[in-house]
Amino acid sequence: MRLNENLFRLKEEYLFSRVARRTKEYESRHKTPPVRLSIGDVTLPIVPAAVSAMRRAVEELGHIETFHGYGASVHGEKELLSAISQRYSEWGVEVGEDEIFVSDGAKSDLGNLSELFSGQNRVLIPDPVYPAYLDANLLAGREILFSRAGEENGFLPMPEEVRADILYLCSPNNPTGAAYTREQLKVWVDYAKKQNAVILFDAAYECFLSGENFPHTIYAVEGAKECAIEICSFSKMAGFTGVRCGYSVVPRALVRENRSLRRLWERRQAAKFNGASYISQMGAAAVLSKEGQRQLASRIGYYRNNAKIIAECLSSVGLWYTGGAQSPYLWVKCPDNTSSEAFFEELLEGAGVVGTPGS
Ligand code: PLP
Repeated sequence: MRLNENLFRLKEEYLFSRVARRTKEYESRHKTPPVRLSIGDVTLPIVPAAVSAMRRAVEELGHIETFHGYGASVHGEKELLSAISQRYSEWGVEVGEDEIFVSDGAKSDLGNLSELFSGQNRVLIPDPVYPAYLDANLLAGREILFSRAGEENGFLPMPEEVRADILYLCSPNNPTGAAYTREQLKVWVDYAKKQNAVILFDAAYECFLSGENFPHTIYAVEGAKECAIEICSFSKMAGFTGVRCGYSVVPRALVRENRSLRRLWERRQAAKFNGASYISQMGAAAVLSKEGQRQLASRIGYYRNNAKIIAECLSSVGLWYTGGAQSPYLWVKCPDNTSSEAFFEELLEGAGVVGTPGS
């Protein structure tokens, strides 16, 4: 027996596990809990429409007449697939139910989907970004390149003359809060097609976008269905971080080496996944119902307002930041050339505020 050596490529501790550990240590020493501005968790409870739907689902499972076992399809429950497809059509994009794959959340899909591709592929990952992409590809033994996001490019890296096969994009971005416009996404789509690469487009925060120029889906860009897989989540939109439900779209038009990636992903899911919980899926379908959407509207406003409060506070103390407009995230420049690690500690110990260190 030999261990998977790729595990040794990972940092000793996942970023957010370390932040959680430091938060716990702080809590054990202080009476007042810290203000948590770190991991993208939600604070508002799940909307009543989803709570009722999940109650109904539990009731169904508790009676012989209405009991459900394994789901009928590897794609997910019909009710949820139809609601997701309808959502895309409201954005002017056609996505068939057989192109949607419901999962237990975006994090699993963002890593698992890379199983579609050979370990020999090169991966391009924005830096900084949600750390799960890097870890999943280190585990798969792939070569990794980074596209740097900084003040010089408005925290939105654009394609450069490098050869890469798998391109991760996160828009709106965690942690910088930057979001690509339609025109910028078109440049990525053209680049991916030219390179025969595949984009893994993480749209976990699409619900925070506003304005015509910021599409909620990469498929609003011409040609994207031939080169992009989109990964979405109910976590941020509907407070499902604990419930667990998300989905990915693998379009029919996505073909490489004469093979349909949609069909290959169907086969992979059948081999390794038995579906998201029926209860979560019924809750998610209710989130997308008219009533669910009506109830959700004020939640986004609440998180937007939090971002505004943080932005005003940072401005008032003269700290440079970016983001907070198309996303709940703000990315702050540490004062006096302090390292982000040192500033993270200073913020926690001095002000009782948990941030996320990064550079
Ligand atoms: N993608 C991004 C960019 C995130 O920030 C997060 C969570 O913070 C996720 C995906 C994970 O989403 P989920 O809860 O659906 O696994």
